[in-house]
Amino acid sequence: MRFVLLGAPGSGKGTQAQLLAEDIGVPSISTGEMLREAVAARTPLGVKVDSIMASGQLVDDETIAAVVRERLSQADVRRGFILDGYPRTAGQAEALAEILTENGWELDAVIYLEVPESELVVRALARQRADDREEVIRQRIQVYREQTEPLIAYYDARDLLRPVDGHRSIEQVARALRQALEVAR
Ligand code: AMP
Repeated sequence: MRFVLLGAPGSGKGTQAQLLAEDIGVPSISTGEMLREAVAARTPLGVKVDSIMASGQLVDDETIAAVVRERLSQADVRRGFILDGYPRTAGQAEALAEILTENGWELDAVIYLEVPESELVVRALARQRADDREEVIRQRIQVYREQTEPLIAYYDARDLLRPVDGHRSIEQVARALRQALEVAR
């Protein structure tokens, strides 16, 4: 079971990735979370990405590919994984395709959480993380529109896309998501 969760910042993909991960018993892998840990621990990676993250920009594709490749080489992903917040650019989608091929893996589905833009800002402000000032939130949404949204068509063309209406309660979205994946109990 190998899934990608695609959606704008504030779409709820982190929450849903964790719920789904518990449900199907595979790790949820958040590149944002891994980078925040690196920043907190002041590792060379963390020092490199700190200001990029604080400004709402994306960390470069090569750096992220190295992080993901290393994470996907660990033993706990053998039975599958859910990627939360990766890939985010066309280059990252190509890099992921390579990593999958190297391991003899394929993606089962790309879940796309659809949430209206007005709701994204409200949710992100309510969350109040260090990089969640309104200006930075809008920047992150714009980066999403420009760099990540094209992945919807990319994965749709590969017949992997499963759109889910994310503008509902956490429980309703979780249920719709399981139905979309046909892993509902
Ligand atoms: P997230 O928690 O997924 O919203 O990520 C927080 C921040 O980490 C983003 O705004 C980016 O600066 C960085 N980041 C996380 N994942 C990626 C990625 N796949 N590519 C580039 N930057 C990323």
